[in-house]
Amino acid sequence: ATHEETLGFQTEVKQLLHLMIHSLYSNREIFLRELISNAADACDKLRYQALDNDALYEGDSELRIEIDHDAEARTVTVRDNGIGMSRDEVIENLGTIARSGTAEFLKQLSGEQQKDARLIGQFGVGFYSGFIVADDITVRTRKAGTAADAGVEWHSKGEGEFTVADIEREVHGTEITLHLKEDAGEFADDFRLKSLVRKYSDHIEVPVRMPKVEKARDEDGNEIEGSETTTWETVNEATALWVRPKSELTDDEYKAFYKHVAHDFSDPLTWSHNKVEGKLEYTSLLYVPGRAPFDLYERDGARGVKLYVQRVFIMDDAEQFLPLYLRFIKGVLDTRDLSLNVSRELLQQDPKVEKIKSALTKRALDMLKKLAKDPEAYQTFWNTFGSVLKEGPAEDHANREKIAGLLRFSSTHTDSATQDQSLTDYVSRMKEGQERIYYIVADGFNAAKNSPHLEVFRKKGIEVLLLHDRIDEWLMSHLTEFEGKHFVDVAKGELDLGEIEDEDEKKAQEETAKAKEELVKRVKEALGDEVQEVKVTHRLTDSPACVVLPEHEMGFQMRRIMEAAGQ
Ligand code: ADP
Ligand code: MG
Repeated sequence: ATHEETLGFQTEVKQLLHLMIHSLYSNREIFLRELISNAADACDKLRYQALDNDALYEGDSELRIEIDHDAEARTVTVRDNGIGMSRDEVIENLGTIARSGTAEFLKQLSGEQQKDARLIGQFGVGFYSGFIVADDITVRTRKAGTAADAGVEWHSKGEGEFTVADIEREVHGTEITLHLKEDAGEFADDFRLKSLVRKYSDHIEVPVRMPKVEKARDEDGNEIEGSETTTWETVNEATALWVRPKSELTDDEYKAFYKHVAHDFSDPLTWSHNKVEGKLEYTSLLYVPGRAPFDLYERDGARGVKLYVQRVFIMDDAEQFLPLYLRFIKGVLDTRDLSLNVSRELLQQDPKVEKIKSALTKRALDMLKKLAKDPEAYQTFWNTFGSVLKEGPAEDHANREKIAGLLRFSSTHTDSATQDQSLTDYVSRMKEGQERIYYIVADGFNAAKNSPHLEVFRKKGIEVLLLHDRIDEWLMSHLTEFEGKHFVDVAKGELDLGEIEDEDEKKAQEETAKAKEELVKRVKEALGDEVQEVKVTHRLTDSPACVVLPEHEMGFQMRRIMEAAGQ
């Protein structure tokens, strides 16, 4: 090895390593899943790049992953003949974490084992998870298409620094050797490794092979000493999961595949697997995760599906196929409608992309509708992603009604801060003669619940939706009606209860207004320019006065958002 240098891990990596080793101990077998997942990605990338440059295969186009072990030396090796890495890529990929939001994410970690394990799972541990079981890792790699002397060796004990050196490497691709910690020797075992490969990697299209040692036998059936031959045996199913018929797939297989595509640790809430033939030809497998990724609200957070064209991996995070308000959906799209040399730029111009997007959007919304039949699971979904779905009506006019049906709110029906009431529920409870859906927007649940604007509604037993999320006013500015019923903000404009009020009440109100003319005038003089108008109202039953905004005025929340944006 030449040109050897020792480099320090980026601070974030050091923190992650430290926390991961301590909090993921009980989950430590996942290291193998992560390494196989990376090896499969590397094979996918090589196949893609070789589409217009066959030479990258260097005469070896049979992509594969090999797992080897040595119980005595306590080592496990994961090898692939995928794309490999250059020296710069090794330093970048195995020395830093490049994702934005990492520092903020790490700040949330508390040192509390269970909570941290959950958070780290959400973040995705990747390559570094090797250090949960290993006290020493060596990576030998060479980028496909480079000369034999462009190999690189990376080595680290996971304690703050690593070395990189140039080496000769005949074959391209990557070989990772873990030297297991004393208490992790169980993983250097044929049976254990095989069962882990089956558990985690059945759905990976690239074959995962393990050595099978056989000895020749003599005429009496006895093994002949020194006659060992090693053959490589494929251990996983090795067909892309989404290509297999639904009837053949088990829930566990779907779940394992989810963990591979979503880089998540925990199970998805639900999924939807569809093959479409006809004008458009595609297979999609979409998942609703059970928890939010750490970068859900990051501008450049990962979103979109893994895109394949005729089974060939094209790109991760193809965000063109789902709207932003469904950015929490994970999965795979495999289509025949795009060409193999499609790029992100080309995707933006292809009219077929728009068509597939609209089809996938419908699938995703239908999947959520189905999930809603299980109120407990749906509540988990709503608590996790509800405020993202609330961006929907503004972004996607065509599906507004569908999205509205998926929304959940707090309401005076339960007076609970839990958002679990649907608009369908609300409509089914509407009073005789009630034509509108009433709501109030406030900064917090208690402010909404205790608003004086609700007094008349409570008295008459009319339900009001209590909106208290930051995004709610924005949402309501794009939702005008549901099932033909208009939405009315009870804190704005003239309050017309329509048919719910009888003639006598209206007359009595008019008389009161007349009788109090003098008082209104005095209040108006006292407040001067602070208000536009002072009126007698039937909104209140207990409180003496309240502030009302004109109907088309921006609400308090929106004003604050605009101010924050410097408007
Ligand atoms: P992720 O897979 O989410 O990107 P990882 O920590 O698992 O994160 O891997 C970091 C990066 O290191 C990968 O994105 C890839 O670029 C590189 N890498 C890891 N393993 C391999 C491999 N076997 N072959 C080529 N590149 C690899
Ligand atoms: Mg990875």
